[in-house]
Amino acid sequence: MAILEVTNLKKSFGPLEVLKQISFDVNKNEVVAVIGPSGSGKSTMLRSLVHLEEIDGGSIAVDGQFIVQEGVYSKPQQLKQITSKMGMVFQHFNLFPHLSVLDNLVLAPKLLKEGSTADLRKRGVELLAKVGLADKADVLPAKLSGGQKQRVAIARALMRNPDILLFDEPTSALDPELTGEVLRVMKDLAQEHMTMIVVTHEMEFARDVADTVLFMDNGEIIESGSPVDLLTNPKKERTKAFLQRTM
Ligand code: ADP
Ligand code: MG
Repeated sequence: MAILEVTNLKKSFGPLEVLKQISFDVNKNEVVAVIGPSGSGKSTMLRSLVHLEEIDGGSIAVDGQFIVQEGVYSKPQQLKQITSKMGMVFQHFNLFPHLSVLDNLVLAPKLLKEGSTADLRKRGVELLAKVGLADKADVLPAKLSGGQKQRVAIARALMRNPDILLFDEPTSALDPELTGEVLRVMKDLAQEHMTMIVVTHEMEFARDVADTVLFMDNGEIIESGSPVDLLTNPKKERTKAFLQRTM
């Protein structure tokens, strides 16, 4: 069953057409890896899903509820409620530097009055334990390695119990020796059947963890399929050329 339905998504920045009628579905419990060259529109696509970008046309529905239907956005209240079903993890962590790790987790749900401070802190502590950072609750982000910061960002994204987690190149800003600990947490989430869309250059992760791989180029989805089909037996020339450059 599709939990996310994207239909004919269009987005331009001025004269630059960045997303050209993109359509795809994501099923509940599915892990979708999105690959493609820099500038192909991957980040814009993810940001559009959570309304960090306003699209020019097309539809996005989560669990059958429209964020935007044929270019017309839902009312603010409904929009907020639907986008809150998605959590996002960014390449550069986006942690608040002046807040402790635990306060980074608690801040947004507290502002949105999604629970008592005590309950939110309890949940935050549990999620920090889940990502292997139980002992870091009270430190500032500056005291953490990049891998630890990204695991905090994942815990933060989990605070609101999202139905779908979106990752935008979560390991691209990390030293190679720190990518493993972040990918490990993401693999654990996949094994717990979290629905995820992961923009990544980690082909091994795509091959081992994803159910479906989408290849984007120049604002279009060129090809999609199982990791085995797409990564080892691509049909389109552009996919072949991209994989030859990266693998
Ligand atoms: P990717 O994540 O695949 O590298 P992006 O979605 O970041 O691609 O960018 C796609 C294209 O859109 C690029 O040409 C980029 O320069 C352009 N772009 C992205 N964001 C903006 C923006 N806010 N204003 C203008 N152009 C943008
Ligand atoms: Mg990007």
